[in-house]
Amino acid sequence: MQATVLTIGDELLIGQVRDTNAAWLGEQLTLAGVILRRVVTVGDDEKTLQSELRQSLAESDLVVTTGGLGPTDDDKTREAVAGLFGVEMAFQENILDDIRGRFKLRRRSMPESNRSQAMVPAGFEVLSNRLGTAPGLWHETKQGEAAASMLAVLPGVPYEMKHLFTEEVLPRVRRRGGLHNIVHRTLRTAGIGESSLQETVGDLSGVLSDNLRLAWLPGPGGVRLRMTAFGRNREEADDRIAQLEACLRDRIGAYVYGANDETLEEIVGRMLRDRSLTVAVAESCTGGYVAHALTNIPGSSAYVAGGIVAYSNPAKMDLLGVSPEALRQHGAVSEVVAMQMAEGVRRRLGADLGLSTTGVAGPAGGTSEKPVGTAWIGYADTGGVAAHRLQLVRDRMLNKQLTATFLMERVRKNLLAGRP
Ligand code: ATP
Repeated sequence: MQATVLTIGDELLIGQVRDTNAAWLGEQLTLAGVILRRVVTVGDDEKTLQSELRQSLAESDLVVTTGGLGPTDDDKTREAVAGLFGVEMAFQENILDDIRGRFKLRRRSMPESNRSQAMVPAGFEVLSNRLGTAPGLWHETKQGEAAASMLAVLPGVPYEMKHLFTEEVLPRVRRRGGLHNIVHRTLRTAGIGESSLQETVGDLSGVLSDNLRLAWLPGPGGVRLRMTAFGRNREEADDRIAQLEACLRDRIGAYVYGANDETLEEIVGRMLRDRSLTVAVAESCTGGYVAHALTNIPGSSAYVAGGIVAYSNPAKMDLLGVSPEALRQHGAVSEVVAMQMAEGVRRRLGADLGLSTTGVAGPAGGTSEKPVGTAWIGYADTGGVAAHRLQLVRDRMLNKQLTATFLMERVRKNLLAGRP
């Protein structure tokens, strides 16, 4: 079964609202075994909507639309659907009663414009929306008909859309049958760029096939490798994934820190907790981002002693004990200062590990010796202290995220190697 998702609304086209509906539907459809072929976004324009709907219905078994079901003039989905199917709009008293009841519950009188929501294309099934005023619509051609399409027309408000999709649409889709067994699994890597990783993995032509695919997804938290397998049954798909995972781990296992939704800070947190170690962070260029990431994990108070954001030179000296000579001789973005920051925060907060960041986050402020994106990460433990230079990019936010990722990966590697 193949699907198209059509999200509707000018606000999506101009970037005012992020299309989270499409992403959520993509995930849910895949989990259900439906292959999502296309996501299309159109504005509140009846003609464009009709032409995209026509094409989508012609090429997909299932089309899901979201948005444009409200009572205002810019909500065109109902009319567009009726026009496309060549049917009249029919008034449904029970929908109006429903909407009226909802307003009554909130002790408000129903505006006249809401009457339009009780007009639905004739022959369409109404999907009752208990979370909002706009009901969804469902149309299904009989099994065996040439264009065997199912059409679900859902409201744009995410929680209303999710409720109707889960409660009303999915059961109907399942009843129709023809679902695939699709399994996704993602391996998460850090500490290596996409192209180097690809080179290290090497040739996979003998492993991958139409039934077993691999996608490379680079991001500030590292490169994710998403494996997708299709099978005649769940076990066959699982087996295929297991084979590919074994092959990948064999080639790049050292860079793989976790799977699926696991984050690097979660993995590092688990390692610290298992070893009964505590960590303290001294941050300059990341401005608290590392502490933020570490403390995003529930239960992190077991291993996070604390963090100090020491942005200025005086703060580095006063709060962390960085020496004026080191700052004068080497500058704040230097190996020596990164080491003094890491050791300083470790001692002052009485932690087992001390981490530090100092860098030129950009976009301005670089020199030829220390261009934008130059950063040092420091690592101190009971066995000693070291710092590593990073050469990152020109984007300030990205540099914060990348610095945190490299630092976290350094901690993971050191702990794996038995330090401290
Ligand atoms: P309503 O009856 O509430 O107006 P509707 O079907 O008309 O429902 P829209 O008016 O298209 O929905 O959208 C309502 C709001 O829902 C938008 O302002 C936006 O905040 C959110 N929304 C719409 N589409 C999406 C989408 N694809 N992704 C995320 N949010 C969306």
